[in-house]
Amino acid sequence: MAAPASSHGMIEALASTLLDVQALIDAAPASSMLLDRDGRILTINRAGAARLGLAPAQALGLYLFDLFPVEVAASRQRRLQAVTASRQPQVFEDHRDGQHYRTSAVPVMDRDGEVCRVAIFSEDITAQHEAERLLRDSEAHYRFLAENSEDVIWQLDRDMHITYISAADQRLRGVARGAVLGQSVFSLFSPRGQAILARVVAERQQCLEQGLPLPPTLRFEAPQQCANGEEVWVEVVSTRIDDAHGVLCGYIGMTRNVAERRRYQAMLEDANRQLREQLDKVSALQAQLQARAHRDALTGLYNRHYLHETLPDLLAQARQARHGLALVMVDLDHFKQINDRHGHVAGDLAIQTAARLLIERAPSRSLCCRFGGEEFLVALCGLTPAAVCAWAENWCAELADCVLSHQGVRIALTASLGVAWQPQHGDSEAQLLERADQALYLAKRRGRNQVCVWAADEVCALRA
Ligand code: GH3
Ligand code: MG
Ligand code: MG
Repeated sequence: MAAPASSHGMIEALASTLLDVQALIDAAPASSMLLDRDGRILTINRAGAARLGLAPAQALGLYLFDLFPVEVAASRQRRLQAVTASRQPQVFEDHRDGQHYRTSAVPVMDRDGEVCRVAIFSEDITAQHEAERLLRDSEAHYRFLAENSEDVIWQLDRDMHITYISAADQRLRGVARGAVLGQSVFSLFSPRGQAILARVVAERQQCLEQGLPLPPTLRFEAPQQCANGEEVWVEVVSTRIDDAHGVLCGYIGMTRNVAERRRYQAMLEDANRQLREQLDKVSALQAQLQARAHRDALTGLYNRHYLHETLPDLLAQARQARHGLALVMVDLDHFKQINDRHGHVAGDLAIQTAARLLIERAPSRSLCCRFGGEEFLVALCGLTPAAVCAWAENWCAELADCVLSHQGVRIALTASLGVAWQPQHGDSEAQLLERADQALYLAKRRGRNQVCVWAADEVCALRA
């Protein structure tokens, strides 16, 4: 018979479909079950039965609410009735035995539109719940820190508008949080600060466009605008926030009041500058003192002390370069008479005049010193004996030519000069000085106003 064969096939097909549906709901990780209006379990998947501590076959036909503790059963029953009455699905969350569940109860209608079954899908959301709790805790934790920090903590959206700012901003600038939220970050800064921020942003943008590496945090100092019109200098530290795909979502950052630090820094710099100025003054003074220590106050020529310091070096150089060194000792004639006749001031004037003449008419690379009262010593480097004599004769003649005028009185001046040179007349400082002096003595003896070169026989003859 065709009909039974065909209905047999249909039954087989139906059974196969039922098996597929069962396999499908068994494969779902959430628990699913189908209840009748009284709460009797008509179908249940493996996860659902496992949640009840039963095998699927054991659960079938049982009343779901009998399987719950009394206090839970009542509330679940009320929910089932509500779904049936309202014909609307309901989603609710609850927790049992330390686990959190999200359950959907969906009414199933018969052909007349009456609720005949209720499908229950329930998933374990304990892990998600825990993650949300941790997130809430950590948010509360960071918000506590942010709100109680002396530094201002803030967050911007990708267009640099302020989405969060901590209470410290109001303490710092005196501007209410409500007036700040939603504004551009530029509004926090004074005009000077805005210019700095604009430069920093432009530099960063330029680096980005050129593909140059950027430090993860941005750090700069700029003045912010206070409600009372004043500026307060802050240090800004900021970093961008990207989403999981590296797309910019916004910025998070912190501003710190650095007015005090900058004030101390300025004070320190000022103190440093003053110290440097004082040090400069001290070293200038030292240089001046040193120069004075080497100079004779009346004439400005080098003094005898400097001559003794320098002469050994000049001699060493002369020996090394074999260019010779000559000493010319100059002594004003009858100087005592100038003092006696015209006074000490006239005597000083005579000494100054002679000194000027010597220094102005001396060749380069010569050293002019005031050796004593009215005595001078000139050291001449690298000249031939003839040239040395020519210079000495010249000074002698020029000194004799110069006439001093003091208080309307004309005072004549002459000098005697003694010359000794290295290496012919000596090789040591002491010997050369002694011989220049002996030659000077010779000039005096010969009648003054003349130059004498040291000569052994003449000195000996003089001594005899
Ligand atoms: P001679 O011709 O032999 O050189 O004799 P003189 O008078 O020039 O030499 P003397 O040594 O007898 O006298 C030098 C004087 O120079 C003695 C001293 O009072 C004077 N005298 C020394 N230093 C200064 C000075 O700085 N200013 C003045 N006005 N006189 C000075
Ligand atoms: Mg003298
Ligand atoms: Mg003299």
